[in-house]
Amino acid sequence: MARDPRYDILFEPIRMGPVTAKNRFFQVPHCNGMGMSFPSAMIAMRRIKAEGGWAVVCTEETDIHPTGDMSPLVEGRLWDDRDIPVFARMNEGIHLHGALAGIELTHTGPRDACLYSREAPLSVAHVPVYAGDYPVQARAMDRTDIRNLRRWHRDAALRAKRAGFDVVYIYCHAGSSLAGDFLSRRRNDRGDEYGGSLENRVRLTRELLEDTRDAVGHTCAVVLRYVVDDQIGPDGKADMEESRHIVEMLAEVPDVWDVNVREWRRDSMPSRFGPEGSQEEFIGFVKKLTSKPVVGVGRFTSPDTMVSQVKRGIIDFIGAARPSIADPFLPKKIEEGRIDDIRECIGCNMCVSSDFTMVPMRCTQNPTMGEEWRKGWHPEIIAPRKSDERVLIVGAGPAGLECARSLGNRGYEVVLAEGRDDLGGRVLQESRLPGLAAWRRVRDYRVQQVQRMPNVETYLESKLSAADIRDYGFPKVVLATGGTWRRDGIGRYRATPVPGLDQVSVFGPEDVFAGVSIPGPVVIYDDDRYYLGGVLAEQLRLKGLEVTLVTPASDVSNWSHATLEQGWAEERLYDLGVAIIEKHGLVAAGKGAVTIEHGGSGRQCSLPCASLLFVTMRLPNDALYHDLQADPARLEAAGIKSVLRIGDCFAPSTIAAAVYSGHRCAREMDEPPGGDVPFKRELIALEQAGS
Ligand code: ADP
Ligand code: SF4
Repeated sequence: MARDPRYDILFEPIRMGPVTAKNRFFQVPHCNGMGMSFPSAMIAMRRIKAEGGWAVVCTEETDIHPTGDMSPLVEGRLWDDRDIPVFARMNEGIHLHGALAGIELTHTGPRDACLYSREAPLSVAHVPVYAGDYPVQARAMDRTDIRNLRRWHRDAALRAKRAGFDVVYIYCHAGSSLAGDFLSRRRNDRGDEYGGSLENRVRLTRELLEDTRDAVGHTCAVVLRYVVDDQIGPDGKADMEESRHIVEMLAEVPDVWDVNVREWRRDSMPSRFGPEGSQEEFIGFVKKLTSKPVVGVGRFTSPDTMVSQVKRGIIDFIGAARPSIADPFLPKKIEEGRIDDIRECIGCNMCVSSDFTMVPMRCTQNPTMGEEWRKGWHPEIIAPRKSDERVLIVGAGPAGLECARSLGNRGYEVVLAEGRDDLGGRVLQESRLPGLAAWRRVRDYRVQQVQRMPNVETYLESKLSAADIRDYGFPKVVLATGGTWRRDGIGRYRATPVPGLDQVSVFGPEDVFAGVSIPGPVVIYDDDRYYLGGVLAEQLRLKGLEVTLVTPASDVSNWSHATLEQGWAEERLYDLGVAIIEKHGLVAAGKGAVTIEHGGSGRQCSLPCASLLFVTMRLPNDALYHDLQADPARLEAAGIKSVLRIGDCFAPSTIAAAVYSGHRCAREMDEPPGGDVPFKRELIALEQAGS
């Protein structure tokens, strides 16, 4: 298909100092949980981005010296020459596809505690380190330290060049890099030529940029990543006037400006709390002050939004982390006029969680993310079918839909039977809750894909029994029948049912999905600890009910710290007037009240409660599986050779896990078993004995 001429502008080459990007698609630095710990995985992931058409593919933040050691975070590392080969291999792959390779060099100063290197962290002033409440302080840098920092940056830039990079970053973000902390009026209290006046505070950033240009600027573009609302005024609010002055002062110094906003939770705004393109109001001024190209992000997945931002002079480059994770082939698909094939990011930030959990990144929309090397999974290529056996998939939630899509791509004849009157399972239901509309994309992308496949037939309102499945007589049966929330309080905190449940009205999330009338006051007991308890509280409160959310966790929606949603969620619940009780478990239910206890002290109190809504854990809907397996002779007589369970029907988990499970089932259909360790591992090479 031909590209829509409206999008031609996105494919214009852009000059960046000594190099030229082939189009406007710029994969900005992003963490991935692979970095220096799983380098082969990281390399394969970046190479695929280049293959997918991104003009620039960057590393994650990369530390340049042991005094800026980001451990235990898994990021990039360029301390000495021995770190070059990993990047050289990555860049070879990136260049193969005509893309430019970028590296984000940084010294994070007091953000990190140098837990691996055990060096004393460096800082603009004496301060406790910012991350993780570690009992570690960073020490104020003297002039020698500053000279050393400049040398380390310069050496790192030279190494980057030797590794084949075309684009070298200086990172300027207060709280996340020394350059940013020096720039910050709030953090910089120095009395020397690096503190006080704005000119002095800008000095270090300017020097780092000039040193980098001097070292590698004739072959590499020098990028300044600048957080535009970092400058905090005396009133505690962003001082955009000062930010403006900074951009004016450095306007022509870098070859490219990569601009974004303060705090990761705002920069990677979850879709629950902000729309596509939400940074525009903050970054919009930068392009007016410089002749250099500007990169900006905003979870851009719509080519129309991208074009609009370029045409209105907000940005020159479509910066993307999450959209490039959800769909590494996003540029190619726009270029080839395949807009419907774009797998749009849903803004759930499951990818971000991998930075905190320090394991290879996963993505709700893209099940191949992080599996490119260890399982050899390509986001756009899948092996043709190995048999003619037809497959019956029961249940069209994220697992069933993804399995149908991928088996369909392999060429299998597939029947997808869904009991309800629409496809999508839990995703469809949850996407109707406040803030979760974008999550529907998990369903929409797959439905739209399978509906175009002549070899995939979909049946609605087809709730199948074991007898129905036997009647179909397909050799392969895949059960994707989901899970059901418990309604007895058992979860992490309790291993036995809550006593007294016969005296109170008990509900589960399915009742809210179904619009069942729930009388207040409502107590939501959230021992699931991710998003759903908080979202249901929001929903019921918006209906005017009195809602108390009780959780044994230390924070409401505790796990959503990892997805950068927690702070926003807590704020929203407080604003709505939901009462939040943390660190408490549910002990008993009675007439009109429940008893809760403080997890640490065991102190008890009671709460008024007409309705008790449990969000604790789910059980798999696997009755069909057991029915079928109970009679192997009839199964065989029906010609059914295998019955597999996927997604929540096998083990209830996240939507990302369900999609992954459906994809894996399709990849492994008719393949030999993968062995006890079903993927390639990266093992650390031992040094020579005695060395
Ligand atoms: P997952 O996250 O594992 O994909 P979901 O709960 O989202 O699971 O989806 C399961 C889907 O399976 C639901 O849409 C449900 O209606 C459907 N389903 C459950 N049992 C049957 C059945 N016996 N026949 C057909 N569809 C079923
Ligand atoms: Fe987008 Fe979620 Fe995938 Fe991250 S995990 S790229 S937020 S869909």
